Amino acid sequence: MPTKEELKAKVCREIDQRRDEIIQTSITILENPETGFREIKTSRLVSEKFKAYGIAHKTGLALTGIKGYLSGAGEGPSVAILGELDSLIVPDHLKADCDTGAAHACGHHAQLGTLIGTAVAFAYAGVMPNLSGRVVLIAAPAEEYIEINFRNGLRKEGKITYLAGKQELIKLGELDDIDLAMMTHNHSIPGGKKLGVGGTSNGMLAKQIQFLGLGAHAGAAPHKGINALNAAMIALSAIHTQRETFRERDTIRVHPIITQGGEAVNIVPSDVRMETYVRGKTLEAIKKANDQVDRCLRAGALAVGGRVRIATLPGYSPMINDFGLKEVYKGNALALVGEDEVGQTDAHTTGSTDMGDISQIMPAIHPYAGGAVGISHGKDFMINDYELGVILPAKAMAMTVIDLLADGAVTGKEILAKSKPTLTRKEYFSLMDGLLKEEEYDG
Ligand SMILES: [Zn+2]
Ligand SMILES: [Zn+2]
Repeated sequence: MPTKEELKAKVCREIDQRRDEIIQTSITILENPETGFREIKTSRLVSEKFKAYGIAHKTGLALTGIKGYLSGAGEGPSVAILGELDSLIVPDHLKADCDTGAAHACGHHAQLGTLIGTAVAFAYAGVMPNLSGRVVLIAAPAEEYIEINFRNGLRKEGKITYLAGKQELIKLGELDDIDLAMMTHNHSIPGGKKLGVGGTSNGMLAKQIQFLGLGAHAGAAPHKGINALNAAMIALSAIHTQRETFRERDTIRVHPIITQGGEAVNIVPSDVRMETYVRGKTLEAIKKANDQVDRCLRAGALAVGGRVRIATLPGYSPMINDFGLKEVYKGNALALVGEDEVGQTDAHTTGSTDMGDISQIMPAIHPYAGGAVGISHGKDFMINDYELGVILPAKAMAMTVIDLLADGAVTGKEILAKSKPTLTRKEYFSLMDGLLKEEEYDG
């Protein structure tokens, strides 16, 4: 019976041996960026890889998602390793698609490399007979909560229920057979640690807003029109007036954009659209700030005598890193890079992720790996070190799986027994459905 250390050495050796292929997969995905729920080529590539490795898998989950299974010899928990399929839209990014502006400015191509790295480790290292439980490899669609108009359209057509990939996978029951979950995200913090785990993140609500006025000749008869752009401007200013009321401890972030500003320059704008998030540390704080934002949106419509349609869509839940799972991962991170290079932070970050949703219903972790430079979501964000950004986190996650599922999965079972998820699936769905709200205000 091989020891855990021997099994870990085997999976790491396998990842090293297939290093070039793993990195090349990441680079191919970088060169073919696709935004959420449109990741056709990316999804196909992951499926082709799984097929080549002999990994049984489902495709087309939440439109583009993939879920592969590798089973151990004995009974035990199912551990999911996730990667995200989608890119952002950053048209001036070095690797942007010139037609769509899609670009991997958040490093999700590296996550998929990491996913492929763990896939080859468990497919080829010959360790599965020594594990109890299953390794489940999930390529999840649509983490970046963007193109809200497009996605809300998919929702209205009944193609999706929620606007983000992992939420939708939960809705479809694809997380029902998973017990523990982990996903590594890259960071580009200068001087940041090679591997890091811990901390919480903001949750958020997303909003799609439409100001409706009345079109008229902008030069000859503006008095006959109702200017929806002016309504939007007043709403934006009104939102700014609320900022002094946000408490530091709630880490509120409200950052609207105008996605449609008018029809033609010589017509009084009659249809102006915005999107925003309302982020915060707790659901209570998010809801309070959201009410304030709604008031400001109505104020814009009221001022010009127009109308505003406000769709409030359930966004992400705050991230909770499970203590037991985090400790196991940390042990492996320390073994790989040493104490000086492991970030052990309990800090709060003001971004948001739908791994937060998974972390509400099961023990989960969302570690970070370096290997990137530039500004996250900016035009210069790039993975500059694939060894750090892809290979190292693949090893850390594969080693963590060994700890969880070797020796009859005693550690995995222990973590499960100790953890108490914040929400049951039923409570999660009623929370999500309760947050959805559509209103029209006639000013
Ligand atoms: Zn991102
Ligand atoms: Zn990301």
